[in-house]
Formats: sequence, structure tokens, C-alpha cells
Amino acid sequence: MTTPKEFFACVAHYDPNALPVEAAQEIVRQWAMPRGRDDQAERVGLHDALGRVLAEDVISPIDVPAFDNSAMDGYAFAGVALAGGGATLDLSVAGTALAGRPFASAPGADQCVRIMTGALIPPGCDTVVPQELVTREGDAIRFSTANLRAGQNRRLSGEDLAKGKPALLAGRIVRASDLGLLASLGIGEVAVRKRLTVAFFSTGDELRSLGEPLSPGSLYDSNRYTLFAMLARLNVETIDLGIVRDDRASLENALRDATGRADVVISSGGVSVGDADFTRELMNSLGDVAFWKIAMRPGRPLAFGRLWSGERAGAGKSALFFGLPGNPVAVMATFYFIVREALLAMSGATRQPLTAIRASAAEPIKKRAGRTEFQRGIATRDGDGRFRVVTTGPQGSGVLSSMSEANCFIVLEHERGDIDAGDEVEIVPFDGLI
Ligand code: AMP
Ligand code: MG
Repeated sequence: MTTPKEFFACVAHYDPNALPVEAAQEIVRQWAMPRGRDDQAERVGLHDALGRVLAEDVISPIDVPAFDNSAMDGYAFAGVALAGGGATLDLSVAGTALAGRPFASAPGADQCVRIMTGALIPPGCDTVVPQELVTREGDAIRFSTANLRAGQNRRLSGEDLAKGKPALLAGRIVRASDLGLLASLGIGEVAVRKRLTVAFFSTGDELRSLGEPLSPGSLYDSNRYTLFAMLARLNVETIDLGIVRDDRASLENALRDATGRADVVISSGGVSVGDADFTRELMNSLGDVAFWKIAMRPGRPLAFGRLWSGERAGAGKSALFFGLPGNPVAVMATFYFIVREALLAMSGATRQPLTAIRASAAEPIKKRAGRTEFQRGIATRDGDGRFRVVTTGPQGSGVLSSMSEANCFIVLEHERGDIDAGDEVEIVPFDGLI
């Protein structure tokens, strides 16, 4: 683990008032190490493995497929018969091989076996002629030898996965196809990493919980719901610590409680310049926390570091800490572009870069050079199959409806200025985010 000294040395390298997004991501990456391994694995059945991180490589205990089988419905025969040089081949049908019902004996030299897809290739046979290339009369078949080679239309045993070879690697997040693949190997249980525990809370005297009446100047706390959902999609355990009032004692209690119980602590609100001074002082007394102004929009203020549950930094149990801005869209942007990767790394997952694709701007977009902007976009495919994107309109960082309306982030790079209609931009689709 990086020591506090090293941490501050690497932060000091940048201007904390305009930290480029890539620099923030790099620092977070250095700090978000996977938790220890041995005590962090548990064995689960396949249904519970979905979305979890594999703790060990899965080695294939068998060949898949386990036997040579037919890739087509047709007739199996010995491919040497093709070497005779005739333009057509005549064979008689000796029997039938169905999936799960093999034809056990070897057919004679001028014989073949009617075979269905997936059926075991009968002894002595190595080639399948597809049924649509064959004319059949009674038990006799005839087909052209042109375009047919010995060994064709046969799936070899071990072709999909060979026995003893790794089928899935440690660090993989188990997906739908993986469950099927594990089942195809006869594996009903796998070792997965324990889930990461993430505690989160909202800060602000103006916030109200659902069910409470709104008084003038107050608003409902939405960040805890957004955070809950984004964390749930990453398959981490969540601890919702509610709303924390803007006073020193409440915040200290919440931070200590969270640090004692979780691997990662996420708060929203209370880290902008205008916020009470005690926040910084307190966070620093509980750990090593840097207060960044990231050159990004939305999401400029962000606190990041390590908190300790003991009497001073370095004592007791520690947790990684993200103090996100309060604005609802900024919470989502900083979560996806700063926090997400750290949570995945700590979960033991291999890197899962976000899917980024190129699109053309369907209209001009205002953009200020010197910061990365994550505008909310609506991408559609035009007749040529290319993506065109428009913004959702007003890009205020409090306009959460812009996220619900959008289907992608438009990521406008640090150096870029205004975008003209027709310019290429990068979009990160919302669908497919893990
Ligand atoms: P702050 O970073 O605490 O100054 O908050 C910035 C803005 O985000 C303010 O307008 C807050 O009212 C708003 N805000 C902060 N936390 C939340 C929350 N949990 N839900 C909705 N809005 C919030
Ligand atoms: Mg606040």
C-alpha cells in the first residue's frame, strides 16, 4: 500500500486546483489495490456466481466437446473415399446416429451413417456430407465430391476447451455465457472473491428523507438512491448510513462508523469551497485526504484519500474514501469516471474499461478548453449505421432528469474547445455498464 507520504508526493505533482481527470484516475488507480486474497474467497453455486469476481482460474476438467461430433445433419463416412477421384460418390446407408444415440460399429468402405448435428461420429468415419448436398434413393445416397474435403463438418473433441487448460481466469466478472460455460464443464461451484463493502451517506442540512415533508429551502435526498443503484450494479455490499447533518460531531460519527464497517466510504456533498471548514480539518484528522478541484464538468470538487477508524491516521482499520460533490449529476459522473474503476480493482476484477465509441455531433456543442466535460447525450444510428449524438439540452449539474433522458455520456476531452456539427466525439453508452 502507498504510504501517506508517497500519496501526497504524487498529488503534489499536480495543480490541485485543476487536476486533469486522467491524473485523478491514475492516482486513484495507484491507491485502489485489491484486498488480500486468501481470506477473501468463498465458494458459491452457479446462480450466485453471476456478476461475481472469480478468485481462481477455472481449469477445464474435461474436453469440450468430449467427443468428435457432427456439425451438420447429413451422412458420416470415411474421408479416404474422396481420394478415389470420381466426380460423384455412391454410398449405402448402414444406420443412423442421433445426438445421444451413437451408431456403435464402423460402416464398411462403401457405406455411410445417417447422422444428426451433435451426434458422435461413428468409428472409422471422419467426414460429414450435409444432407442438402445429397440425393437419396432408398438406402443409397449420391453426392458430388467437388468442394468436399476429408474431415469436413466434424467438430473435434476439445475444440472448444481442452482438458487441463484454463477456461476462465481469476479476476473475471462472471457473465451469462460464463455460467453456461461452467455448466458445460460439469462445474457447479466456483471460488469467488468476497464482495467489497461500501458505506455511503449524504451530507446537507437542506436534505430530507423520503416520507418527510419538505419545508422551504429543503429538498429530497436523491444521491443515496443513485449511489445505491450504481453500487448494486457493481455487485458490492452496501451500507446506507442515511443523511448526515452539516456539523462536526455528526460527520465525525458517520465517518468513523463507516470506516469501521466498510472497505470504501463514499459521501456526497460538503466538499466544495463554500462548505464548512470543519469538513477538511476533520477529514484530515481522520486520515490522509486530498481535496481536489478536478478539471472536469460536472464533478469539480472531490475529496479522496484513506480514513482510519483509530485515534489518528494509521491506527485501527482503514477504508478508502471518496467525498463526492453534492450535485446529483456530478455524483454520477464522478462515480463512473473516478470511483468505478477503484471499486472494481479492489474487488479483484481485471480492468474493465468503459466502452467508448465514436459518434458525430449532430449539432454544435459548447465546450470550454481546459477541462473534460461529460455531457449527457442522446445517440441514434443513422441509415449508414453511424452514431449521431445530440446533447439533452441544459447541462446543469443538478439536472438529474438529463441523465434519465440521455442514453450516453458525450466525453469531450480536456484540450477541446467548441464542437462543430459533424465533428467526431467520443460517447460512452449507458447500456452495458456493469
Ligand atoms: P454541496 O456540494 O454540499 O455544496 O451540494 C451542492 C448542491 O447539491 C446543493 O444544491 C445541494 O442541495 C445539492 N445536493 C447535495 N446533496 C444532495 C443529495 N443527497 N440529493 C440531492 N441534492 C443534493
Ligand atoms: Mg452541502
